[in-house]
Amino acid sequence: MLVLLEPGASEAAANDIAARLRMFGLSVHRTECDGQTRLGAVGDITTVDWDAVRRWPGVADTRRIPAPFKLVSRAFRPRDTVITVGRCAIGSEQLALMAGPCSVEGEAQAFAIAEAVARAGATIMRGGAYKPRTSPYSFQGLGEEGLKILRRAADAFGLAVVTEVMDSQQVPLIARYADILQVGARNMQNFALLHEVGHVEKPVLLKRGLASTIEEWLMSAEHIVSQGNRQVILCERGIRTFETYTRNTLDLNAIPVVKELSHLPVIVDPSHGTGIRDKVAPMARAAIAAGADGLIVEVHHDPDHALSDGAQSLYPAQYRELVDQIRTIAAVVGRRV
Ligand code: PEP
Ligand code: MN
Repeated sequence: MLVLLEPGASEAAANDIAARLRMFGLSVHRTECDGQTRLGAVGDITTVDWDAVRRWPGVADTRRIPAPFKLVSRAFRPRDTVITVGRCAIGSEQLALMAGPCSVEGEAQAFAIAEAVARAGATIMRGGAYKPRTSPYSFQGLGEEGLKILRRAADAFGLAVVTEVMDSQQVPLIARYADILQVGARNMQNFALLHEVGHVEKPVLLKRGLASTIEEWLMSAEHIVSQGNRQVILCERGIRTFETYTRNTLDLNAIPVVKELSHLPVIVDPSHGTGIRDKVAPMARAAIAAGADGLIVEVHHDPDHALSDGAQSLYPAQYRELVDQIRTIAAVVGRRV
């Protein structure tokens, strides 16, 4: 339930209303929007007499939030959520450009790629140290050593860091090195992990599951936000369909749909979305044209020898060219790099 306070309601009144709602066993989440305090009361709302709540001092109105996801819905917060990471305000007019290798493979590789993507205009470096691989015999990542290398390489070129956390027990370790915690597609419904990252004071990049509906994806975001962490960035990375020419089917429909349903920023991963190097740039351009808040792109200086996802990794020169094109497209849709 959404409880709208009267404009100019005092802090004491807001706290009092929240406390009274909590006495019904509801959890109360507060947001300020256009000068108005909005309280999202979630839990079993059927035990409350909402007509009576509407008469409480300081309450202007109450409204049911019809969607199954509440705190991530536009009904709770009509204005876009903006998440600041390093030099980037994700969800603002500025596009979030995240780029880097699929996996951190070593010092020289990470530094070469960090320099290339920073020069091209990226502000956030990606790179996996703990990799979810289909085969147990494939490269699984360098672990904590990889996190250290990633942090050093990103710091050397003024970049923030996004990296995947595969397991709830890894959360404190990943949070020590990363600016953004990535929850991968395979873990989108790992509810224990979602709850754990919900307690961290760092943004979470929540990738869409391989076969998840938009509603399931937003419900997973709701799991994180319900634990107190409001800083969730959604990432469309392609879904499994009958099509086999591309690795996944990048669902660009999801961008305007999510934008209508939720106030959270949504970025696109055209690398996993296509799986094919020369299809990455066209889909990245399309994503920005469709209103995405940014891109996460795999870039490798020597993709033929990459330990994972070389076939979908851009060469640094291709990434530079893509960012130049994105700059042009951004201006058309009222955004900037
Ligand atoms: C990745 O970003 O390297 C990755 C494994 O992505 P996803 O979870 O989308 O497959
Ligand atoms: Mn990858």
